[in-house]
Amino acid sequence: MAERNVIIIGGGLVGSLAACYFAKRGWKVDLYEKRQDVRQPEHSCLVEHRSINLAISERGFSALRRLDPLLEARVRELAIPMRGRMIHSLDGRQTSQAYDVFGKHINSVGRNALIKILLDAASSYSRVTLHFSHELVDADFDSRRVTLRNAETNHQFDANADLIVGADGAYSRVRQRMMTKVMMNYSQTYIEHGYCEFSMGPTNGEFAMSPNHLHIWPRGSFMLIALPNPDKTFTCTLFMPWRQFDLIKTSAEAVEFFRAKFPDALGLMGEESMCAEYARNPKGSLVYVKCSPHTYKNRAVILGDAAHAMVPFYGQGMNCGFEDVERLDEIMLNALQASGIESTETTQLTDEQLLSALDEYSATRAADTDAIVDLALDNYVEMRARVVSYSYLLRKQLEGL
Ligand code: FAD
Repeated sequence: MAERNVIIIGGGLVGSLAACYFAKRGWKVDLYEKRQDVRQPEHSCLVEHRSINLAISERGFSALRRLDPLLEARVRELAIPMRGRMIHSLDGRQTSQAYDVFGKHINSVGRNALIKILLDAASSYSRVTLHFSHELVDADFDSRRVTLRNAETNHQFDANADLIVGADGAYSRVRQRMMTKVMMNYSQTYIEHGYCEFSMGPTNGEFAMSPNHLHIWPRGSFMLIALPNPDKTFTCTLFMPWRQFDLIKTSAEAVEFFRAKFPDALGLMGEESMCAEYARNPKGSLVYVKCSPHTYKNRAVILGDAAHAMVPFYGQGMNCGFEDVERLDEIMLNALQASGIESTETTQLTDEQLLSALDEYSATRAADTDAIVDLALDNYVEMRARVVSYSYLLRKQLEGL
């Protein structure tokens, strides 16, 4: 059988993992990423306007493990376990809430470090070619063709593939093109809250707070959270309604707000650093996307944020994108086994088998991803408000004993 090839659009977290999976299963992979290569020192700060660190959970690790247990181990080495939430009251009191009685936990990992590991993993397959500074301009799935533009030379050209994978994020162009071909149900919603990141340095060379917690300052309609980094800093994120961000225009107003709402965090960040970052750091919007189907015939599939961008409050956007890749691989492999072919190379699927595998993927996956998009939204209320009620109720119960 002639070599089969896949074109992946987007070399973010999900696209680079997908490249590894397809290569492992025998596909020739060309991945096109519009940014430059973040592994080059001069471009290493390109992962911008996104969180500096992320929570990776068992859902994400499972996808790494299935590909290669060594890859999972490499990521685990960099990850800091967060065994529970630490709730910070206004009076500075801290209440630890374990995530699980059996010790299950989530982990903080740097976004840049993770993407570099995944791109290195993809590069290690001889079947993978990574093309940076290449933007998808158009896609014609029926003729299995994409049009790309090299951002450095401005040269535009066409490329062909048996399968086109859209891992090009929340504003996916592959999804947009797909919509013109299938009856896609689609919704995109911006929530009325945005976010801004701050850093909290070490205190006397050590973490300024417990490194094994996800810290939360719940304040009802808004909240501050903090995740640990390997260099003993924390990355703090303020999530708040846009109208409240709009009220804070000067450093004095920022200090007044932090003194009133997060005095302990302000003390650890330092007023000068907080003000500089409030003025300098971008304020990000939060959007969620639901769509179905996620596939077009046996020609195209969208994965990760392209298929189901979600608000970050459940810490599952990337994890769920990794799970997409794992599920797709499982379904394609099962189809191969069902056909009696003794191979793990899914390139051996016939066109009809690939079609039914992609149909099955979309039919089963869209319901799950819709559900997690909803859970993520609901968890914002949990984090910024309900966690306080729980700890308050628990304290009252204990006081009553
Ligand atoms: P992206 O990371 O958006 O990557 C898409 C890639 O496609 C980009 O590199 C982009 O440059 C490229 N691209 C776009 N258009 C084109 C084009 N036309 N041609 C070529 N390339 C293109 N998730 C978690 O699991 N845990 C967390 O704790 C967590 N925290 C978060 C905190 C914040 C504040 C935010 C905003 C998100 C968070 N997420 C978290 C979600 C997570 O960041 C996303 O789910 C994840 O990045 C999605 O990966 P992706 O590869 O699908 O998309």
